[in-house]
Amino acid sequence: TYIVNDACIACKYTDCVEVCPVDCFYEGENMLVIHPDECIDCGVCEPECPADAIRPDTDAGTEQWVEFNRKYSELW
Ligand code: SF4
Repeated sequence: TYIVNDACIACKYTDCVEVCPVDCFYEGENMLVIHPDECIDCGVCEPECPADAIRPDTDAGTEQWVEFNRKYSELW
């Protein structure tokens, strides 16, 4: 799965939302998140992000972000 990290805060460029084939982005007041269970791991959103805020969960240190994205995608 892919996740959105804090580099998205106050950016919300949303080009990633438009390219996602399964609509798994959720929008809060300050940033976007990806629902980790809905993401099909296609990777097309990653190059669309100007803030480099979209990362694969295989990156080091993304565990906390997977939980964050899961929590908020269910709330928003
Ligand atoms: Fe959507 Fe694909 Fe990005 Fe997952 S990797 S959030 S399915 S565009």
